[in-house]
Amino acid sequence: MMNKEIKQNTISELGEFGLIEQLTRNIKLKNESTLKGVGDDAAVLDYKNKLVVVSTDMLAEGIHFNLMYVPMKHLGYKSVVVNLSDIFAMNASPRQITVSIALSSKFSTEMIEELYSGIYLACERYGVDLIGGDTTSSLTGLIISITVLGEAEKDGLIYRNGAKPNDLLCVSGDLGGAYMGLQLLERENEVFKANPGIQPQLEGYNYILERQLKPEARNDITETFRKLGIKPTSMIDVSDGLSSEIMHICKNSGVGCNLYEDKIPMDYETKKMAEELNINPIVAALNGGEDYELLFTIALSDYEKIKNDPDFTVIGHITDITEGVNLITGGGSKITLQAQGWNHGKIW
Ligand code: ADP
Ligand code: MG
Repeated sequence: MMNKEIKQNTISELGEFGLIEQLTRNIKLKNESTLKGVGDDAAVLDYKNKLVVVSTDMLAEGIHFNLMYVPMKHLGYKSVVVNLSDIFAMNASPRQITVSIALSSKFSTEMIEELYSGIYLACERYGVDLIGGDTTSSLTGLIISITVLGEAEKDGLIYRNGAKPNDLLCVSGDLGGAYMGLQLLERENEVFKANPGIQPQLEGYNYILERQLKPEARNDITETFRKLGIKPTSMIDVSDGLSSEIMHICKNSGVGCNLYEDKIPMDYETKKMAEELNINPIVAALNGGEDYELLFTIALSDYEKIKNDPDFTVIGHITDITEGVNLITGGGSKITLQAQGWNHGKIW
């Protein structure tokens, strides 16, 4: 929560350069490809004969996160993870990140240190180097922009556009949890705003809260593909909800798809919370966001290789484009899938 009793230091006491120095002084570079990190006008990288992948994401306070219930450390961790997820979705390995922040005067240096402790925790967990960034002022809230660079083998990349009719549509892990975690946090935040004396009721929902507040990116899946000896024909990470990601694969690949409602993997807590809040859990999986699982297609002939892997669920199959993109309901009816993607509280 924002209103701590203990004395906090203002950013102006340290100054911009003092703050950057304080945030970056303990960096120890981990990757061979990082020749020069923070401290000069630019970082220097050497990827030898590998392909380089780049992805960037920006998060704005009040749009993508609410500091009423998101701790700064979790925010830092998640900001990194959501970027890494995009690199894993290319079947590539992240190596470096840059972190740029815009800060208003309501943030103390201690709060930014907390944010960075989460950023560094993610860097440790995923073996990436923080190699630079930018620090600037904002009138109202916090903005975080992270760019990630990674490497890939020349023939290793997996794009959104390779799905073929008869391929199987698969997903890692389970879906809808992050969205239900967010609904729970929002509910408790409303209760708190109306009556600050009431303790939040969060027991029994550790899994979905973690899916929302401290998600992980699927860095294990690339390794699993190698072990199983398969290369997906297309892949995307599930950041905006299953239906929107399926639409991306189908549009980019020029194919149609049948998705089976009752195959969509969901955790017990996701279903329980959905029931409590009178939400159809399928809607959470289809249109909720931020699961950071991987959605991919494989050739039908690879089915034997993945069918016993507990990490993966086959949820549908690719069809000719003329068949359209459909959801086959539990009752067997076919309805056209709507790309009602998660919009992260967008205001336009
Ligand atoms: P410049 O004036 O050339 O933009 P800065 O003073 O902004 O340089 O940055 C100095 C060094 O600190 C650079 O290596 C830059 O990448 C790094 N840096 C600046 N802000 C951040 C930040 N928020 N997090 C990590 N590194 C940063
Ligand atoms: Mg700068």
